[in-house]
Amino acid sequence: MTYAGPGSLSTVVDETTKTFDVIVVGAGPAGSAAALEVARAGHSVALVERGPFPGAKNVYGGVVYGRILDELVPRWWEHMPVQRWVTRRSTMVMTPTQALTVDFRTQDWGKPPYNGATAHRADLDSWLAEQAVEAGAVLVPSTVVTSLLRDRTGAVVGVRTDRPDGDLTAGVVIACDGVNSFLAKEAGMYKTGHEAEHLTLGVKQTLALPRQTIEDRFAISGRDGVDIEMLGCTGGIPGGGFLYTNLDSVSIGVVLALTGVSKAKTRPEDLIAELKRHPAIAPLIKGGEQIEYSAHLIPEGGYHAMPELIGDGMLVAGDAAAMCLAAGIWLEGVNFAIGAGMYAGRAAAAAVKSGDVSKTGLAGYRTMLERSFVLTDHRKLRDFPGLVLSDRMQQRYPGLVCDLVQGMFQVDNPLPKPGLRKLLRRATRDNGVRLRDLLRDGWTGMRGLR
Ligand SMILES: Cc1cc2nc3c(=O)[nH]c(=O)nc-3n(C[C@H](O)[C@H](O)[C@H](O)COP(=O)(O)OP(=O)(O)OC[C@H]3O[C@@H](n4cnc5c(N)ncnc54)[C@H](O)[C@@H]3O)c2cc1C
Repeated sequence: MTYAGPGSLSTVVDETTKTFDVIVVGAGPAGSAAALEVARAGHSVALVERGPFPGAKNVYGGVVYGRILDELVPRWWEHMPVQRWVTRRSTMVMTPTQALTVDFRTQDWGKPPYNGATAHRADLDSWLAEQAVEAGAVLVPSTVVTSLLRDRTGAVVGVRTDRPDGDLTAGVVIACDGVNSFLAKEAGMYKTGHEAEHLTLGVKQTLALPRQTIEDRFAISGRDGVDIEMLGCTGGIPGGGFLYTNLDSVSIGVVLALTGVSKAKTRPEDLIAELKRHPAIAPLIKGGEQIEYSAHLIPEGGYHAMPELIGDGMLVAGDAAAMCLAAGIWLEGVNFAIGAGMYAGRAAAAAVKSGDVSKTGLAGYRTMLERSFVLTDHRKLRDFPGLVLSDRMQQRYPGLVCDLVQGMFQVDNPLPKPGLRKLLRRATRDNGVRLRDLLRDGWTGMRGLR
């Protein structure tokens, strides 16, 4: 299971093979995990990807939480193309002139089985697809799936692609085609529509910096890495920011509510530029040369925004099913995609084996998701996305917290130190926060975390 870099996969497309047990659409983390499970179960599977190689078109911030891979690739950390192991996790609350950082570090995360890692998407996606190909999946790159094929009962029986004579048939189609999945929409699985308010726009820059400079500035050494999540840095548009360290580059970006972007006068690239000028960030990235700029949508609605997951002959997994957990202090999509893809692959393989690929035959998918972190975490944190993107959380609380801390540490002699109650009263008043909203939001937050 060695890794030879993106684009190195042998693409074994046999033009005469048109029928598979399972077709997986999209070779992102969800799709490759699904194809790997189906192939391992001994069934034929095609993994259809529109990019020239897996990961070629994919965008993310940069941190993967790999433990879900324990079930797929034993000792994955010895093989996965990692940049750095995240041993420092910071949460920064900001106003234009202030920053309060909760900075946590542990060397426990710098050794097996690890916690989070930074990795480039082209490397990660190609590596995971390679595991599927080695298990027997047929990778079909540079091929766009353009529609579903159905039988007379309406059951999904395959896909149409943009290749000449490019229809492929299968017992089960697994849609892993990412956010705004047109396959799930075409199948009518997004009953309520996939409204813009459930989407955020992620915009990211990768800045090259010498390895030693990164290690000096972020106080790390060897393969240790840093993950900084930020709140209060998006100029009034609901969202957040991030800064991650790679070996010899850093990724910096903002995630913005799509509805806010369309109303705002500021462009996303201006917000990143502003973030890069912030006094808490500028010294960390000084001199960094931009080597990549990318943007992509994120399904941020969570549990409330998920479509139906199972149809006759069809499953939906990963971002296609809005399974990205984007809840303020968490931005986890890849692990949820891998988990959901793995369970979808298992359910599809079991259905093919039993000869029942109907909605009933595929029902095991939902059971597996319910029993795992995928739906458990989403259900538990279902109110978080709304809370995190609320005006109070975005506009008022960062100022409140920063003012409170500034008041505590500011020495205004000859005046005596103000009491905490006075500081709280002043900070709530200055930031337009009502105590009862603060208590209610605190309660919502605590309930989600319990
Ligand atoms: C800016 C940003 C920062 C993020 N940061 C993080 C982070 O740090 N950590 C984290 O865990 N998650 C992060 N996420 C979320 C994460 O990227 C997604 O949750 C994850 O990629 C979902 O995986 P997926 O396989 O479901 O979909 P995708 O990764 O989107 O893969 C879908 C695949 O389907 C292919 N495809 C689409 N349509 C077709 C078609 N019609 N025919 C053939 N192929 C098709 C695409 O080319 C793609 O390869 C971030 C997202 C963004 C945008």
